[in-house]
Amino acid sequence: MKCARCGNEYPSEYYFKTKTICRECFDKLTPAEQERAKQPPPMHRMTTTAFTLDGYRIVKNFGVVRGIIVRSRSIFGTVGAALQTLVGGNITLFSELCEQTRADAFEMMINHAQEMGANAVIGVRYDATEIMDGVTEVLCYGTAVIVEPETH
Ligand SMILES: [Zn+2]
Repeated sequence: MKCARCGNEYPSEYYFKTKTICRECFDKLTPAEQERAKQPPPMHRMTTTAFTLDGYRIVKNFGVVRGIIVRSRSIFGTVGAALQTLVGGNITLFSELCEQTRADAFEMMINHAQEMGANAVIGVRYDATEIMDGVTEVLCYGTAVIVEPETH
């Protein structure tokens, strides 16, 4: 595991105070920064493939937001993947490319939702289409909403 602040490698979570910050770095933060560091990025926590968010009610609906990334396989990636195909098994170069592209499309969707003033995205879906040989379009979409904690 690697600390996001100092970049040191640690053998386990034991050395971490949050998901990304080691104990040593955390202790150097101001109390306000510590509070913030404990929270995951809010919009990433507030996304779901379902159409409801547990413990929250939807107070405003902005409609569909999208993130679209078009990627072509690099020459090196293609050559590497061709070699891997010969060897057989899972073509890791392609799956890594897909993962990264999905993550980028997700980020883009989140940014659009935030620009609209939403604080959550529900019904999140992914879609990928090969638009021409070696060029893939990855789409991430969902419904941007404002949610409020449910009061009981
Ligand atoms: Zn650190």
